[in-house]
Amino acid sequence: MEPDCTARLEDDRLLALRRRATAAGVPLHVSLALTHRCNLRCLHCYVLPNAGASESELSADDWLALAREAAAAGCFSMLLTGGEPLLRDDFAEIYLGIRRLGIYVSLFTNATRVNRRVVETLQAAPPTLIEVSLYGATPETYGRVTGSAAACAAAMRGIALMRAAGLPVRLKTVLIKETAPEFAAIRALAAPGEKPVRYDPAVHPRFAGDAEIEERHVPPAELAEMESRTVPELAAQWIKRQSEMQRQPEADSPYLYACGAGLHSCYVSADGMVQPCTSTVRYGVRYRRGGLLAAFRKGRAALRAKRMPADYECATCPDRLYCMICPAIADLESGNEAGKFAYACRLAHERSRKISGK
Ligand code: SF4
Ligand code: SF4
Repeated sequence: MEPDCTARLEDDRLLALRRRATAAGVPLHVSLALTHRCNLRCLHCYVLPNAGASESELSADDWLALAREAAAAGCFSMLLTGGEPLLRDDFAEIYLGIRRLGIYVSLFTNATRVNRRVVETLQAAPPTLIEVSLYGATPETYGRVTGSAAACAAAMRGIALMRAAGLPVRLKTVLIKETAPEFAAIRALAAPGEKPVRYDPAVHPRFAGDAEIEERHVPPAELAEMESRTVPELAAQWIKRQSEMQRQPEADSPYLYACGAGLHSCYVSADGMVQPCTSTVRYGVRYRRGGLLAAFRKGRAALRAKRMPADYECATCPDRLYCMICPAIADLESGNEAGKFAYACRLAHERSRKISGK
């Protein structure tokens, strides 16, 4: 699965709540990677290299203990992700246990393992959102990206089952050389009434100098051209993002992680590391029963001790609106958190050029 960033701001009440949670050191939102294992083998996957044996994963009891601690502290929303979370035989126990605590849950899945039993579990206490990752619009592209052409039909079946049950589905994809030729066809798979297919334009490097991922990237000028042609809501998205950046409490702050990582949310890896940011393991603290808040606060204090260097170019960059500036991803690519994710930087400049018409 792709990482999720939870710093989006929806309305003033939520903003006020997030400010209070930040001051109190409480995660309002927690992402749980129930497993790092997956039934697919995506070319670009950054999770699979971390996959350990199922024995290294937190048990259902551990996840539910963690959820109870989070709920008692004030957490009201969780994301269940992976790997592929539906690979867990105890998915229903974990999912329904968390929902019984009154926590809203969203789910990231590749949908290939969705069957009637999964649908019944989800219907028993519906999730807020089910985001399904698509890896093409045809079996051929699925085969190239995931290693399984049959996964295309399996995903479409899973999506159809969830839609027929009235569950809230949203589709998303990653733009890499293999999926880009089918971008318009993938976008057309959104059903009437569903939000447009979300896309991630820049897959993560997995470690410093990840040449294999570089190979997957669509040339930035080509991607900027493709999205302006295929995504009618793009202009509205930039306007929304600009407003979010202006309202983001971390704007103009001295923190290197100005995205808001760890302020009021965290991620827990399959083997129980509590991380303020999904994309970096640097600040992970092991979860022990009863110790969620302590682990969260320790990791976030270490992350927030990182300040922007005086010569940090991204702080004053005129194209930052179009950029996925992320110290964690810069670190993955170059081994330097204050460096740049070179591909995202080139893409931001191309987007800016395209929008200004220069
Ligand atoms: S569906 Fe693909 S990207 Fe997602 S966890 Fe599985 S292999 Fe990785
Ligand atoms: S476009 Fe480049 S310089 Fe500007 S914010 Fe993004 S990474 Fe930094």
